[in-house]
Amino acid sequence: MDAYCMKCKTKREMKDPVAGFNAKGSPITTAVCTECGTKLYRMGKTDAHADMVAPPKPEKVVVREGKLVIVESPAKAKTVGRFLGKGYGSRFGGACARPA
Ligand SMILES: [Zn+2]
Repeated sequence: MDAYCMKCKTKREMKDPVAGFNAKGSPITTAVCTECGTKLYRMGKTDAHADMVAPPKPEKVVVREGKLVIVESPAKAKTVGRFLGKGYGSRFGGACARPA
């Protein structure tokens, strides 16, 4: 397996590849450049990911100024609403809105 090395500015063989997941829960592989020792980073699933469990994706919560908080699903809207406290309720499917 190889990956683009930023320092060598070319593709290099990945030394000591470690399968993992990034903050978004996507499979990645990190390794070391065999030429210069720079850390290599490669996106995408590999065989090493086969028996690994991906971490849950972080909940996408966009807090806008004002009264509306957009979340992905009604269930999450409820949860988020609990954090936001009184005044926010689950509305519009995936959104929490505070009544005016
Ligand atoms: Zn390199």
